[in-house]
Amino acid sequence: MALSCSPFISCQRDLGVFAFPSSSFAIDKRCKTTISKKKILCVVSPQKNKSKPCATGSSKIPMTMTEKILARAAEKGEVRPGENAWVNADVLMINDITCPGICGIFNKEFGNTAKVWDREKVVVIPDHYIFTNDERAHRNVDIARDFCIEQDIKYFYDIQDRSNFRANPDYKGVCHVALAQEGHCRPGEVLLGTDSHTTSAGAFGQFATGAGNTDAAFILGTGKILLKVPATLRFVLDGEMPNYLLAKDLILNIIGEISMSGATYKAMEFVGTTIESLSMEERMTMCNMVIEAGGKNGIVAADRTTYKYLEDKTSASYEPVFSDEKARFLAQYRFDISEVEPLVAKPHSPDNRALARECNNVKIDRVYIGSCTGGKTEDFMAAAKVFLASGKRVKVPTFLVPATQKVWMDLYTIEVPGSGGKTCSVIFEEAGCDPPASPSCAACMGGPKDTYGRLNEPQVCVSTTNRNFPGRMGHKEGQVYLASPYTAAASALTGFVTDPREFI
Ligand code: SF4
Repeated sequence: MALSCSPFISCQRDLGVFAFPSSSFAIDKRCKTTISKKKILCVVSPQKNKSKPCATGSSKIPMTMTEKILARAAEKGEVRPGENAWVNADVLMINDITCPGICGIFNKEFGNTAKVWDREKVVVIPDHYIFTNDERAHRNVDIARDFCIEQDIKYFYDIQDRSNFRANPDYKGVCHVALAQEGHCRPGEVLLGTDSHTTSAGAFGQFATGAGNTDAAFILGTGKILLKVPATLRFVLDGEMPNYLLAKDLILNIIGEISMSGATYKAMEFVGTTIESLSMEERMTMCNMVIEAGGKNGIVAADRTTYKYLEDKTSASYEPVFSDEKARFLAQYRFDISEVEPLVAKPHSPDNRALARECNNVKIDRVYIGSCTGGKTEDFMAAAKVFLASGKRVKVPTFLVPATQKVWMDLYTIEVPGSGGKTCSVIFEEAGCDPPASPSCAACMGGPKDTYGRLNEPQVCVSTTNRNFPGRMGHKEGQVYLASPYTAAASALTGFVTDPREFI
């Protein structure tokens, strides 16, 4: 049996890649072959796959969710991995740091009087470099504003008064969370954004990925993008989620398993009972970080949880799609969640996986809870739960940056279960954290030197963000440990990297 010689799996059962750290091998029972984990098992060439007609429009071949969405968006009956297709975009998201470049390319290529292809499908979200005195950062937003006014863009979440974000009713905050909260994420659609973590929206059962400035400018003018159809890796996560784990642990585990290049230009489809039990925000955390494994997109099938979330977010109609039973996956990885422990990614790579408890001798200088990955309402609720359970105060400066204006409001209004009526903001204050800051990307990507929470010295930080490359949060000699909000809060309470099971 040849391994890895063909890109498609015919046998999807018994592809056991187990959860770190218990097992380091996978057994294909049918083939009676023991091989190293990460290998592809049981492969046949595509032409040997005897597929039955599927229920997807006019297609006669089974397809994955990602393939179906791209086929529909390309106005084709079917597409295959590796095929290039002109795809219609349903939404194009642009942020403040990419808008000036995109506008310049758009005007150069389409002309100064050109109009965007659809003013209602373009969403412009200032979020990266907002609360700073850096004039160049302000200029980004000014250019975005001028463009949106000129083009009559329907969804421009503007900020003009930086002294008080609440004085800007249109301002949202971090784009990926705002897109979901404002109803721009819908099952079955294609969402492109000029930010690599646009993959977050795959949580809604849609194809969502990052696009460069040139592609974005082309989409602005035509509504289309040329995409190579990615093959799909399937990740099966089964088992009841232990109360000390969060989605961040699950995705750090996967990235640690397959490495930062393990899913290069692949769709990462998440299935299984654990995934089905996750909230939409937790599913977003999973899909957010697929890019750290090189994934083209992450995707979770829409279900009742999705539809419930969307109920008060959008009145637009949408049509979910689902992977066919006989869809072909490049590989399948299976994880038993009961064996996963709280994890961190050590400096300086998201795949530098380690058990939180094994890093308990790492002294830290600060904790940062924020970003599109770890700055959602449920992330703060999780951190508050740890502070509440401990009854202690933090030992290091603890920075809290809500992703959006709505998240910020939630911290002051939603009661934390089991707290006797306290909100997150009260619990954070009692624990000695910094007050929640103005919503934005803040120090997740460093930003100008006066950015809130930025690492301006070579300090050690436990962070709920998604990247820990040298310099990512500011100082190039800073050390960032990526962690879940549980682990971040527990670490704040001890001043060392800490397994949250010490408190919950
Ligand atoms: S919060 Fe961080 S990762 Fe997310 S969009 Fe902003 S800079 Fe990028």
